[in-house]
Amino acid sequence: MTNSLEQPTTILKGVGEETAENLIAMGIYNIDDLLQYLPFRYDDVRLRDLADVSHDEKITVEGKVHSEPSVMYYGRKKNRITIHLLVDRYLIKVTFFNRAYLKGQLSPQDVITVTGKWDKHRQTITGQDIKIGPQSQSADYEPVYPVKSPITVKALRRYIIQAFNEYGDEVEETLPFHLLKQYKLPAKKEALRIMHFPHSPDDVKQARRRFVYEEFLYFQLKMQAFRKLEREQSKGVSQHYDLNKIKNFISSLPFQLTNAQKKVVNEICADLKSPIRMNRLLQGDVGSGKTAVAAISLFASVTAGYQGALMVPTEILAEQHFQSLKNLLSQTDVNIELLTSSVKGKRRKDILERLKKAEIHILIGTHALIQDDVDFQKLGLVITDEQHRFGVEQRRILREKGESPDVLFMTATPIPRTLAITVFGEMDVSIIDEMPSGRKTIETHWAKHNMLDRILDFVEKELSKGRQAYIICPLIEESDKLDFQNAIDAYDLLSNYFQGKFKIGLMHGRLPASEKEEIMREFSENHIQLLVSTTVVEVGVNVPNATVMIVYDAERFGLSQLHQLRGRVGRGSEQSYCILLADPKTDIGKERMRIMTETNDGFVLSERDLELRGPGDFFGKKQSGLPEFRVADMVHDYRALETARNDAIKLIEQKEFWNDIEYSHMRKYLHDSGALSGEKLD
Ligand code: ADP
Ligand code: MG
Repeated sequence: MTNSLEQPTTILKGVGEETAENLIAMGIYNIDDLLQYLPFRYDDVRLRDLADVSHDEKITVEGKVHSEPSVMYYGRKKNRITIHLLVDRYLIKVTFFNRAYLKGQLSPQDVITVTGKWDKHRQTITGQDIKIGPQSQSADYEPVYPVKSPITVKALRRYIIQAFNEYGDEVEETLPFHLLKQYKLPAKKEALRIMHFPHSPDDVKQARRRFVYEEFLYFQLKMQAFRKLEREQSKGVSQHYDLNKIKNFISSLPFQLTNAQKKVVNEICADLKSPIRMNRLLQGDVGSGKTAVAAISLFASVTAGYQGALMVPTEILAEQHFQSLKNLLSQTDVNIELLTSSVKGKRRKDILERLKKAEIHILIGTHALIQDDVDFQKLGLVITDEQHRFGVEQRRILREKGESPDVLFMTATPIPRTLAITVFGEMDVSIIDEMPSGRKTIETHWAKHNMLDRILDFVEKELSKGRQAYIICPLIEESDKLDFQNAIDAYDLLSNYFQGKFKIGLMHGRLPASEKEEIMREFSENHIQLLVSTTVVEVGVNVPNATVMIVYDAERFGLSQLHQLRGRVGRGSEQSYCILLADPKTDIGKERMRIMTETNDGFVLSERDLELRGPGDFFGKKQSGLPEFRVADMVHDYRALETARNDAIKLIEQKEFWNDIEYSHMRKYLHDSGALSGEKLD
């Protein structure tokens, strides 16, 4: 960057120390920042025929003052000035509040330009802005910038105009010429001019394209540089697994792997064997068979002489995974153990000792796995299930428990591709995009609360056939009031309703872990037929005989969560049903219910969820780790994001990128952002 762009904003006329401070509070430190500060929208200030303007619309008109303006005083120090204005053939009124001084500046026959809100019925503009004289020719669209008081949009506009006139020529190009040409993007200087002084919305679109692409490209360059660095510097181990044993194990499974499962097993095994450390995200819809993939991967690692760990977010899930892995691995000589916070005392000590001696090959557990005293002898593979529930920090701790174990993150919440390549841009992604055959589609219905009677009839019919059902109620913690929506109340009501016929269970987060497990066990052994629960069963629980899922107040849940809940049924060979009880008040709520009844495809749902909620909300605020883009929008500009990602991958691999002057801006950016830490340039 040339020196003059690095000068403080005080070199501008009208910007003193105080204003400069206020600009700094908006992130504007120097002239360059000011030039790069972009509008978030544009006001259409073209002159318009009043006949075309609708009520309450903001407009700008030019007209002739028709008669002496009148001022009315009221209250303490308040006043209103009314100007009769002749606009084309219309005589209208324009009012301004507390601007009595205008009276002295306006005389009949003066031409003025007024901006304000049009009241069609009263034929009045409530004025916001006034300029004495005709509308200037050039400004058709006025940029509106985000500002922080006391800086006003008007003042900022003035500074930007001045900065652009005096220093605009010194703006440097930050994209290489061949990319500008390839995508027909305007040069930086031109694009900035358009953003600040546009002639048409189309111009702005073109200029915006450039900034979106640039922003994504720089972001992806950072991700890819980081990935390259990780791969080159944090050497993993080559795990020489026993292919024959793996094959035998796979053929011992009670089912044939789907093609999708085979594909991802191959991807994972290739990572295990490679000396580069695996950093892979495994996505697969609920019921797609990730557990089997996890079992095979862990087994492979064990045949190579390593230990494996599987970390899950809840005790129930840990217990279930433990059971299913133990079953799957029962034909082998692999030792597998469960470690949760309810494993205490001597048993815990014993497990830790055997773990250190590598007598335990696979350890399954909750957060208990990442405590300090948990030491593996030779940890080779770490798998986390439902990874988005674990913070980045926890993932790191687990990873550091081994020399440099391979890491596989599994998630049943399909993450829209756009988000996956953004948030997990430095990861490899495997997708199980096929369901085991023979599954019936779950029938999903949306019902109003007043249809509860009919629904209970239906539940009774299913239970009489020997099936089981879930009724999910919103969190018990959420309200102290015991209304029906509350799990306990629902439990009481249903116990009464089905008294003497079926056994009802109650499950919620406040129960002690041992009790939760007991209830889950009773449910999976069909001692309980109807389980009333809060969303603690949301993740992973597997009871194939359950065929009915009823979600109370379904509008309170996001699409992904509803999909997770629905995934608790349809796990066996019988037809299953999901009934969403909801009276949504908002359009978004209604839309959600509609989407749920229309698709069973988790990826489609997650894309829609992202559209409805926006990226910030998708993961929940705390763990989102989403980058903030200035201009770009991950949802709407996802094509540009993919293009940028592909370009970044290519660029990083080219010699020219690390040498040519065209890329010096990019290299400097990578350097400054820390993506190259430890690595020297040139
Ligand atoms: P996920 O963890 O992806 O939700 P699971 O691994 O729990 O799915 O699998 C769901 C059910 O499907 C389990 O009962 C499992 O035994 C079964 N399953 C897994 N893979 C297959 C397959 N290839 N063919 C048939 N059934 C399968
Ligand atoms: Mg699972």
